[in-house]
Amino acid sequence: MKIYGPYTRKDGRKHVVIIHDDGRRQTKSYPRLLMEQHLGRELTEDETIDHINNDFTDDRIENLQILSLADNSSKAMLGREAKMYQFSCPCCGKEAFKAFRQVKHNWNKNKSGPYCSRQCAGKATYVNPWETTTNKGK
Ligand SMILES: [Zn+2]
Repeated sequence: MKIYGPYTRKDGRKHVVIIHDDGRRQTKSYPRLLMEQHLGRELTEDETIDHINNDFTDDRIENLQILSLADNSSKAMLGREAKMYQFSCPCCGKEAFKAFRQVKHNWNKNKSGPYCSRQCAGKATYVNPWETTTNKGK
């Protein structure tokens, strides 16, 4: 068995290419290989490597831990929640959250909003909320 690498991908993650004695070629993430060498066994399909400090370029063995697939995806969910955008809906004034990515997408397209819901976004296309506010003052 020969191990080539590690090679660094564009996003900073590293992987190795393993050529088995029978000629089988396998690509493996570098931190996974490090953990396998550390434990002296192969990891199962359900075991994934997590970078404790979330810096996936930091492949020190102290920074690596094994998570089950389920654990790792819930950690990934937490990461996504941090990128939520909080706003009050310009249509009904309700506090709402939206994925920041989605909001940014709207801004880039010069769309109004964000709105708390599809219904509000629909109303906003023919009712201008700012006009209603000024009329109330009179
Ligand atoms: Zn609303």
